[in-house]
Amino acid sequence: MTSNRAGNALHLRTLAQLRTGLADGEFSSRELTETLLARIDHHQGSLNAFVTVTADAALAQAAIADANRAAGKGGPLNGLPIVHKDLFCTKGVRTTCGSRILRDFVSPYDAAVVSRLADAGAIMLGKTNMDEFAMGSSNETSFFGPVTNPWDTRLSPGGSSGGSAAAVAARLVPAATGTDTGGSIRQPAALTGTVGLKPTYGRVSRFGMVAFASSLDQAGVITRSAEDAALLMNAMAGIDARDSTSADQPVPDYTAGLADSVKGLRIGMVRQHFDAGLNAACADRVRASLRALEEAGASLVEVDLPSIGLSVPTYYVVAPAECSSNLSRFDGVRFGHRAENPKDLLDLYCRSRGEGFGAEVKRRIMTGTYVLSAGYYDAYYLKAQKVRQLISRDFSETFAKVDIIAGPTAPTTAFALGEKTDDPITMYLNDIYTIGANLAGLPGISLPCGFVDDLPVGLQLVGPHFAEARLLSCAHQYQQLTDWHSRGPEDYA
Ligand code: GLN
Repeated sequence: MTSNRAGNALHLRTLAQLRTGLADGEFSSRELTETLLARIDHHQGSLNAFVTVTADAALAQAAIADANRAAGKGGPLNGLPIVHKDLFCTKGVRTTCGSRILRDFVSPYDAAVVSRLADAGAIMLGKTNMDEFAMGSSNETSFFGPVTNPWDTRLSPGGSSGGSAAAVAARLVPAATGTDTGGSIRQPAALTGTVGLKPTYGRVSRFGMVAFASSLDQAGVITRSAEDAALLMNAMAGIDARDSTSADQPVPDYTAGLADSVKGLRIGMVRQHFDAGLNAACADRVRASLRALEEAGASLVEVDLPSIGLSVPTYYVVAPAECSSNLSRFDGVRFGHRAENPKDLLDLYCRSRGEGFGAEVKRRIMTGTYVLSAGYYDAYYLKAQKVRQLISRDFSETFAKVDIIAGPTAPTTAFALGEKTDDPITMYLNDIYTIGANLAGLPGISLPCGFVDDLPVGLQLVGPHFAEARLLSCAHQYQQLTDWHSRGPEDYA
């Protein structure tokens, strides 16, 4: 069941609508913050979307935002509530990464994403639950327990940014940050009927974002509309001297670009993304959404990405390799959980890590250490890097012919919690359509494009490097033609 009430209730409004309401003096940031905090509190039991709720700090910030507005001051997001995935460091508020090893870790500084959004005036209501260290596709690897899907709480919201996606889908908050290493923004957005934007690698600073696989990780947003994603991107994007991989590229006004028409836009449909692995009813919905864009003036072209079938195996060499290196810093000495009464240093390392990390993280560390070992490095890691180049080349050749690549975000709608936990390979295949963009560093967006058996389906658009504005305008234009994005789960209306 879906509800389609635009309504005046504050929690049903988008970020852009809330911004207007605040500017018009229709309500205050304090009222808005109180309303949403009450919803978070009420639904935490069923969704488990939050690890930490920062109610007092949020109310204090809301009061400041209201005073600023009254004085004619305040940034472009002044007084608008958001939440952060719990791997963005937040000064004075714990950052757990969904892991026991960081259960009590409090960062002494804010991540760039956190400070930029705060500088623009956004108010943080809390930190969202996630797969441990962002490793997962179902939010079941979190030390803090699984997140449930607001469309049906027996189902997974996807992962690893599942808490962010569930919170936005359930209308607890209008917007959330997330991170995407292989699909963790787009896949949960698809499974919860929200919009998820993974920017180009380097578009948004990774400073203060706890690393999983540094050459793939990228911060982005989960919202209810493309327009809202543009608003947040205006604040988040841009070079940061503290992240040497952040790109020195001008940041366009993403909001201004939304009006661009899709007339003449060449949309490539990747043949390999409509294969037998894609649920037939989901494929129908995706095709119907592409026809709607065609009717609005875009042209559809079939394209091939010949090496894309190698993206999942390539990712599962590269990502674990980088994770095994990044996670070596969690040793019981400098950060997080420390085992009690160690016999000696080795015992301290082994038991702190053994007790602190969950099974999936251990699996990745072991795989990564193996593929980087002498004798295996050439056979696995180096080979994977070569295949990664082939995949990147496929994309650049295709973008010589089309402006955007479009297809499904995920092979199915949301699946049951527990359904895939015993079978890592099946779980990994959830990201079969999203991982390619990470390997090639490309921007991608998932947006709601219909329902199958009352569960949302996601349409994915991928663009060339730094084409976020094009993705956002195409998504926005689609959202002018359809209202899938404004439907929410009945139980959370
Ligand atoms: N599901 C993929 C994984 O488990 C991707 C995760 C992500 O994007 N953070 O690694």
